Amino acid sequence: MTDLVVGIDIGGTKIAAGLLDLRGHILARGYSRSHAGCPPEQVVQAVVQTVSSLLASAGVSHSQVAGVGVGCAGHIDFQRGIVLTNSNLPDWDCHPLRDTLQDRLRFPVVLDNDANCAAWGEYRYGAGRSSRYMCYITFSTGCGMGIIIDGRLYRGSTGTAGEIGHTVVNPDGPLCSCGKRGCLMSYACGMALDQMARDCLECGEETLLRVLCGDCPDKIQAEQVAEAACQGDLVALRLLTTAGRYFGIGLSTVVQVLNPDTIVIGGGLTHIGPLLLDPCLQALNENIHPVLVNTARIVISELWDDAGVIGAGALIWEMA
Ligand SMILES: [Zn+2]
Repeated sequence: MTDLVVGIDIGGTKIAAGLLDLRGHILARGYSRSHAGCPPEQVVQAVVQTVSSLLASAGVSHSQVAGVGVGCAGHIDFQRGIVLTNSNLPDWDCHPLRDTLQDRLRFPVVLDNDANCAAWGEYRYGAGRSSRYMCYITFSTGCGMGIIIDGRLYRGSTGTAGEIGHTVVNPDGPLCSCGKRGCLMSYACGMALDQMARDCLECGEETLLRVLCGDCPDKIQAEQVAEAACQGDLVALRLLTTAGRYFGIGLSTVVQVLNPDTIVIGGGLTHIGPLLLDPCLQALNENIHPVLVNTARIVISELWDDAGVIGAGALIWEMA
């Protein structure tokens, strides 16, 4: 077996690729604009071209690569290699992406959920290296989780374990994209922060956010909430506290149910820092049984945006 693999992360706006060695180091990178809203064939073609130009630029031949691991958002049937649903990529329901890519790339291909891939990356090479029972949770545009139990990825009976974003934390809360009310994702992710900020502006609240978005509530983004909060804006501080607190409640559920030794938090919102993470840790400790306090190490991602690519590639070795 060769000691090189390719990892691919199919996101909503781009496809990221990396050529990895056995230490999990990225030797070469490739990118392609993902075709959000395009049919599967166009995304498959983009993946094939990205892999081909990645190998060419690295001077690596086909026979030197053991396989291609692919992470993709949405519900993935890992055993059958099928995308069950993907909100970023309409028309993908039940698409056999693994076999399609295998035929086109002529490599063994493994397909998994993007959060599972990122969890595997952090577990093998990142902030979860020394753990055995680890959860990786993204605090970003959305909110997803990958679970490692006794050193193995736990995918559940139908491959959709870890959907923490759609656990209901307030049945009377705002409507979620999944059709239920008060999912964790309605409070604790970038989309939720955007929405909560819009609601404040539309209610006429006095806030710096109005200036930062040019009085266009539709343009408000989580980054502007963070910026306003850093300048002491009380509305923005309240929103970050709410998002952080609900995220902490999500973490408390994870600790109660899975008793992990480590929780790795990743995703862009993590960069906001203590204004978001302090209320999160406080809510975590307030909402777990005292016997569980401090049982889980809470750490920040080490691989950041590379976690998905590295974990996807490393899954090839796991399958060997
Ligand atoms: Zn939901």
